[in-house]
Amino acid sequence: MRFVVDAMLGTLAQWLRALGYDALFDPSLDDDALVRTARAEGRVLLTRDTALLRRRNLQVLYITSQQWEEQVRQVLRELPLPPPAPLTRCLECNTPLEDMLRSEAWGLVPPYVFVRHDRFRLCPDCQRVYWQGTHWDRMQRTIEDLVAYWEACRRQPAPERR
Ligand SMILES: [Zn+2]
Repeated sequence: MRFVVDAMLGTLAQWLRALGYDALFDPSLDDDALVRTARAEGRVLLTRDTALLRRRNLQVLYITSQQWEEQVRQVLRELPLPPPAPLTRCLECNTPLEDMLRSEAWGLVPPYVFVRHDRFRLCPDCQRVYWQGTHWDRMQRTIEDLVAYWEACRRQPAPERR
């Protein structure tokens, strides 16, 4: 399941990416372009614009909250998503990250980062390098909460014991 996210929901798009979901976000797209993209690429449109709900042949979820954390939870709760795969997608451009050899990170990250970390990932599109300790450390706690929420939404109620 992939998404296209309207211009009001940039933070939601970033957090969906942080959880590994494909969330296209381009604030330059107008309503018609959003709808076209959703249809052409089979994406679910996430929007706070009620006018878009009336479009035909469109998979769309109306986002009720103005607060990003509740927005993410609504998506996790209401759509049949596969398990989150945190930290596998570029936060900036939505491209899947690739593992890189540690030696390849030399020169691309500050030396103090290089000596302290073993694992690096590269965005093949925008060339950003990620490692535990940048954005990821600050986001870790929230990501864990959201993954736990995804699991809780899917947990079957325990069978009754007699
Ligand atoms: Zn990127």
